[in-house]
Amino acid sequence: MHGKEDKMKYGEMSQQGNDFNNEFSDWKEECGVFGIYAPNLDVARYTYFGLYALQHRGQESAGIAVADGEKIMIHKGMGLVSQIFGRKTLDGLQGKIAVGHVRYSTTGASMLMNAQPILVNYSRGMMALAHNGNLVNTRQLRYELEEGGAIFQSTIDSEVIASLIARTGKQKIEEGLMEAIKHIKGAYALVIATENKLVAMRDPHGWRPLCLGKVDGGYVVSSESCAFDTIGAELIREVKPGEIIVIDDEGLKSIQTPVPDHPSLCVFEFVYFARPDSTIDGQNVQLAREAMGRRLAQEHPTDIDLVIPVPDSGIPAALGFSQESGVPLSMALIKNRYVGRTFIQPEQKMRERAVSVKLNPIRALVEGKRVALVDDSIVRGTTSKKIVDMFRRAGAKEVHFYVSSPPVAYPCFYGIDTSARSELIASSHSVEETCKAIGADGLYYLSTEGMVAAINEVPSNHFCLACFDGHYPVEIPRLGHPQKLGIEETRAKVDTR
Ligand code: AMP
Ligand code: SF4
Repeated sequence: MHGKEDKMKYGEMSQQGNDFNNEFSDWKEECGVFGIYAPNLDVARYTYFGLYALQHRGQESAGIAVADGEKIMIHKGMGLVSQIFGRKTLDGLQGKIAVGHVRYSTTGASMLMNAQPILVNYSRGMMALAHNGNLVNTRQLRYELEEGGAIFQSTIDSEVIASLIARTGKQKIEEGLMEAIKHIKGAYALVIATENKLVAMRDPHGWRPLCLGKVDGGYVVSSESCAFDTIGAELIREVKPGEIIVIDDEGLKSIQTPVPDHPSLCVFEFVYFARPDSTIDGQNVQLAREAMGRRLAQEHPTDIDLVIPVPDSGIPAALGFSQESGVPLSMALIKNRYVGRTFIQPEQKMRERAVSVKLNPIRALVEGKRVALVDDSIVRGTTSKKIVDMFRRAGAKEVHFYVSSPPVAYPCFYGIDTSARSELIASSHSVEETCKAIGADGLYYLSTEGMVAAINEVPSNHFCLACFDGHYPVEIPRLGHPQKLGIEETRAKVDTR
């Protein structure tokens, strides 16, 4: 497991910076990336369907860039993949290489100019770049680049990566990328198209997932393997942490860049974010979630009448919980399928209302019963409070809340929106206090050990657990305006576990 001595603890970092949470609150990104090199296929349509499968990773904007050997064409827009791309648009995107992106962000930075891929024209040609993850030193890099005369059109860190690559002046994109990554710290799963090449890379810590597949004489890369199933591609393997994959008319080449002793794969991908039908590092996500539910039942034996999942994210864990405890599973909480993910609403007030639009319990099933509600996580506590309240009003005798992950007490800076620290209920409430705050008769979390053990295909020291334990694999650089910071102070310390 992660040791305290080799990582930076949240409290230590926040003492260095001022207003840690708010400074970063506009940096959050959750995204999905997809890339294809297949001269014989309609690459735009394959990317379209790939992005469809990754839609859960971002619903705010999407884009596809297609390279035909001479130039790169791009189309991007705000909204869902199905809203942005029509037949005519896809017909106009003809080529042999494509990269695509779906994006979700939490703030006003959700403008079209921030949609990806980013298309860049530079001295060595064109590149279209799509990125999932968050860099932790974007501000400093951007400041340094701007001081050197660079001009940025967006506020996203992906443009900083593209700018760094362009500035290296290297003829080959992979060489430019190898130079650029010496400067960037944090999480990045990248797919880049040039006129003739598809390049994919996962950061040395491997925070965000990225996998490689093959399809009809071509290659595909995707944030999640579920996209391969959608387009009939076969999963070959994960892109390794720190690995650069280059695909062109000479075939596939792999370049391994230096990596720390252990990867830091985001455990939250298994808890909540990834699709259950995806496989990450050899571990199917649904099976991991069911195992989390079984362990939750082992850790907290219970005396109740019904196990009720909070749809959709709580279903696999509730299934495992029911199997292990022997208590019957009841789908007594109904989800309105036409409402998007609750957290897509940017303001707290809207979020609270959205929960009741989205979920409704079945009174006839729960009246007079002792129920165990099972969800994957409690972040702000808004959803769980609303749901507990709904079940009380529906006549449940006792309402217990089971969570198939530990309390989320620290913010994420590596690409998942887990909110500012002040909004995380576990940052200021004990389990008992949280239980009271959400109005439940009992609140039971899965232990960190139980969560990690449930993902049994991945070694236990290969995870980032920072939002649960506050130990950040890469230090978040000191905050404040970069102009006021010495260059040394702005350098992030790479974890040397
Ligand atoms: P809340 O505690 O109200 O903030 O929301 C918890 C619910 O949101 C749970 O049902 C989770 O499935 C879901 N959730 C999990 N992770 C996130 C996240 N990163 N952002 C927003 N909601 C999330
Ligand atoms: Fe994932 Fe949490 Fe680490 Fe962020 S802090 S990368 S959400 S495990």
